[in-house]
Amino acid sequence: MIRVSVAVETPQYAGLAPCLDYLSEQPLSPGTLVRVPLGQREVPGLVWDADPEAPPCDDHLLKPVAQVLQALPPLGPAWRQLVDFSARYYQRAVGEIALAVLPPELRRLESDGLDRRLAKLARRAPPDAQAPTPERPALSPGQQAVLTTLLPACRGEAPPATHLLHGVTGSGKTEVYLRCAEAALDAGRQALVLVPEINLTPQLEARFAQRFPGRRLVTLHSGLTPAQRLQHWLMAHLGQADLVLGTRLAVFCPLPRLGLVVVDEEHDPSYKQQDGARYSARDLAVYRGHAERVPVLLGSATPSLESWLHAQSGRYTLLSLPERIGQGELPRVTLLDMTQQPKPPAGREAPPLAAPLLQAMRQRVERGEQTLLFLNRRGFAPVLGCSACGWKSGCPHCSAWRVFHKRDRSLRCHHCGFADRVPRACPDCGNLDIEPIGRGTERLEEQVAELLHDIERPGGGAVRVARIDADSTRLKGSLEAQLAAVHAGEVDVLVGTQMVTKGHDFRRVTLVAAVNPDGALFTSDFRAPERLFATLMQAAGRAGRDAEAASRSEMWIQTWNPGHALFAALRAHDFAAFASSQLAEREMAGLPPYSHLALLRCEARDPAVAEAFLRAARDAARALMPPELADELVVYSPVAPHVAKVAGFERRQMLLEARSRARLQWLLAQWSPQLGPLRAAHKGLARWAVDVDPLDI
Ligand code: ADP
Ligand code: ZN
Ligand code: ZN
Repeated sequence: MIRVSVAVETPQYAGLAPCLDYLSEQPLSPGTLVRVPLGQREVPGLVWDADPEAPPCDDHLLKPVAQVLQALPPLGPAWRQLVDFSARYYQRAVGEIALAVLPPELRRLESDGLDRRLAKLARRAPPDAQAPTPERPALSPGQQAVLTTLLPACRGEAPPATHLLHGVTGSGKTEVYLRCAEAALDAGRQALVLVPEINLTPQLEARFAQRFPGRRLVTLHSGLTPAQRLQHWLMAHLGQADLVLGTRLAVFCPLPRLGLVVVDEEHDPSYKQQDGARYSARDLAVYRGHAERVPVLLGSATPSLESWLHAQSGRYTLLSLPERIGQGELPRVTLLDMTQQPKPPAGREAPPLAAPLLQAMRQRVERGEQTLLFLNRRGFAPVLGCSACGWKSGCPHCSAWRVFHKRDRSLRCHHCGFADRVPRACPDCGNLDIEPIGRGTERLEEQVAELLHDIERPGGGAVRVARIDADSTRLKGSLEAQLAAVHAGEVDVLVGTQMVTKGHDFRRVTLVAAVNPDGALFTSDFRAPERLFATLMQAAGRAGRDAEAASRSEMWIQTWNPGHALFAALRAHDFAAFASSQLAEREMAGLPPYSHLALLRCEARDPAVAEAFLRAARDAARALMPPELADELVVYSPVAPHVAKVAGFERRQMLLEARSRARLQWLLAQWSPQLGPLRAAHKGLARWAVDVDPLDI
């Protein structure tokens, strides 16, 4: 019997024990999928590279491997290296990452089931080799310049690098991705293309499929059935798929012939996984490209400040597409100064849209064009209140208000999901007049219909208002149906949350308005302005997609702070100016990307338990720090996050801050292994996790 090291999905931080040892009758190469006994169960595992420093143990204590799934080619060294790196960097067990990123169906399969699946794949019809070559647009001079830099690396003829492609929406970035992918595929390699949102995959998939009719394209995202996901993953792993298009989880897709990684909308926060191993797919894509010596292309109209700084310092190559394709203009941005609007009569609420904006919307209706109203708050009203006694619709389980949803007359907590019917009268004083405070998309939709009820469409009939947000798209297929209605011109005014600002190619929209964006200017979240700028730029990009209408497309912003620098940069469509002012502030304050953060989060029913654990963890970290590093590493005391209580659990967190990534990693490597044992000493602690490079702090 031979001893083999196997990565299994151990519970969180089981001492970070990298792998467990088992016995096998034959040698097994690393990356082989096996099933092994663990406690009373049989679990999936991956044979892993043996740790030369592992302490010796008696073979007779070891159990034999239960099954070897020989039909699956072992996961290669590049894939294992990616997993090893992720585990080390994000402070997780190797097995936790390795198994969690496999298709769930693969983890369940036994040998015979796998054999059947693989047999089915051989039998699949190959793509049409005689497919006609699709038409490609002649490149713009900007695209040509960018591709002169990119193509040699995509063909494998020049050393690989990480490139940041900065280009406004409609500047032809996707065309650049297509050309790069084509070069990589023609060189016999595979291309991996990441998108932030599952909702955006169908559009992009259609574009790639149309361009590469003779190639095999697969998608990978959480919306696939387990069987589809396994099939697509297997095609990638076996080298049958040429192009993989997916969301963040696809960054771990094994690709034996990888030749290119594209990360579209690289600034998007959804690239960061928010539970389990909290990895950043964008950052891992960059690592992967570096490790596998293939070019990485990050694209965005509003790059993350992290990537922008790398591009400024020369670590990434900066490529720009400053103009929209075909003389397309960017919408003119108008700031609507809300401090100058007429005051509503005493006791009355101000209307949601100021008169000039309403006028601009009427014009659109008369011309048969569409307006998009962006309000990042779903529900009817964020709070319900009693003016007699001051009662407000709090959540009994969270430190947050419950949102009033009028459609089903419910009060819903957006943090824990707790919902019940709206009370008839104030629960505290019996007052019958409980009122909505503030406004969400549901209410805006209703109010817009009222405000425009007196005008008739050119074709006859009342103005048609629609809403797209997480509530209106809960049912499968409903988002597609609603988008189709917008594209077909069956909607005059579309009200929506962030969901509608991303990616959609609305041809009839010539007016985009941000109804109430000011909140993000004054939060304690230091990334809020960066996100707001990106969202507003993206929203602006929804207007004037049609070249003919571009010249009269506009973006309006209702703001009480028209003098804010963010809006000035937005008016000028000047990302570089915005970025440099933000970077200057971040540098002054010692915030990322000029520092590197890790957060230890935990929760317990009793806040004292959470705080005691974090204080002990803080003391452990401080004890590890040599005094000469005091300037370079700061270990903060525990604090409560913005929403401190969720679903009955009190949340607390503590922050580590370092001048350099290497210093932070140095501390984490010694500190994390102490946290498991430390946790055991704090009874009553529920969940806890280290979050490296957290987005929300
Ligand atoms: P982005 O990804 O930057 O938003 P796209 O690549 O989607 O930009 O291009 C915007 C629009 O311009 C699309 O309709 C696309 O088909 C078209 N387009 C892109 N490049 C060219 C080109 N060189 N010539 C003509 N049309 C182009
Ligand atoms: Zn009351
Ligand atoms: Zn709640």
